[in-house]
Amino acid sequence: DCSISGFDPELAAAIAAEAQRQEDHVELIASENYASPCVLEAQGSVLTNKYAEGYPGKRYYGGCEHVDVAERLAIDRVKELFTAHYANVQPHSGSQANQAVYLALLQPGDTILGMSLAHGGHLTHGAKVNVSGKLFNAVQYGVNDAGMIDYDEVERLALEHKPKMVVAGFSAYSQVVDWARFRAIADKVGAYLFVDMAHVAGLVAAGVYPSPLPHAHVVTSTTHKTLRGPRGGIIVASRAGMGDAAEEIEKKLQGIVFPGIQGGPLMHVIAAKAVAFKEALAPEFKAYQQQVVKNAQAMAKVIIERGYKIVSGGTHNHLMLVDMIGKGVTGKAAEEALGRAHITVNKNAVPNDPQKPFVTSGLRIGTPAVTTRGYREADCSELANWLCDVLDAPEDEAVIAAVREKVSAQCKAFPVYG
Ligand code: PLP
Repeated sequence: DCSISGFDPELAAAIAAEAQRQEDHVELIASENYASPCVLEAQGSVLTNKYAEGYPGKRYYGGCEHVDVAERLAIDRVKELFTAHYANVQPHSGSQANQAVYLALLQPGDTILGMSLAHGGHLTHGAKVNVSGKLFNAVQYGVNDAGMIDYDEVERLALEHKPKMVVAGFSAYSQVVDWARFRAIADKVGAYLFVDMAHVAGLVAAGVYPSPLPHAHVVTSTTHKTLRGPRGGIIVASRAGMGDAAEEIEKKLQGIVFPGIQGGPLMHVIAAKAVAFKEALAPEFKAYQQQVVKNAQAMAKVIIERGYKIVSGGTHNHLMLVDMIGKGVTGKAAEEALGRAHITVNKNAVPNDPQKPFVTSGLRIGTPAVTTRGYREADCSELANWLCDVLDAPEDEAVIAAVREKVSAQCKAFPVYG
């Protein structure tokens, strides 16, 4: 029997249980989404069998004529999507795309200036535990007391530390980033501007969040968050952002992805990226992303009305950070209580968090996944109220059970895969 259930019932049970969890629980993790059946089909295809080291038309293996078509489709589509003139679709993940950028343009020991993990940046933007913070001298900026990026402070740090690269982009920031200001700061000290748009790439593709491409020397993204594709990474850039050094930067990026840090590209994933980019070029994708933002704003409004603080006061994208300092509940306890109510979120540090990173005083909430299911503002307002019911009484199992029942009914009304 070549089916998983016939050959490996133990594993089949885990996969079936996960599929059921995805249907029965409401997904509010800001970095997650549901890939389409076509994306899943491409990822499960025979393209997984093919070695294709190199790039389309210049491979180190024979028999690449068909996977070349798949990779060219992915490249052409992602260029159209982001008005990019350069694209590399081979990075296995967002982290590897970021490593490629650092290793292509910097030398070990160089200074980088990125947003700190504790204030909404990503591990790969210079955190001490990450290779970006071990290999490079990472200086970190954060948000001010209003929860906003303080550009004057970023500029002050840039002038003081003279980084070779300024890193912009985030995992937990709900405002619109001023990419042009970041470029002006980078130019002032002769640094590269590298933007990691992983979280907002889908919004950028749909034109509902400003594109960093005209401003950054190089931009990376994951393909599985708001972009709703397979798990993976990309590197893109525009001539306007790269400037005179375009050709040289491109050459370095190509060489560092392969053979610098990766071997054979995952051709089945690249095929799935091609599918996702085609989906993102369709008019429905713009409507989807507009709804993602409306849904996030509907949730933020309720959460604020219910007496909780949102870092920076609201949201202009797909996510928000709930600040529960002084509310008598930690991020960890809230995440666990919400989990029992079948609402999946992640605990997240908030600025000036008195709790340890594994406990925290915050929750990160995002709407890409529920919007894919078909939720609109009214559904999100209802959900936000239930979420606050649990935050108000995280130890009251009767409240949690009542919310779980309402969440179950709502999930049934919006099946993920039908
Ligand atoms: N960059 C940002 C801004 C992210 O939020 C993430 C993932 O959370 C990554 C990079 C890393 O992506 P991956 O998990 O694919 O390595």
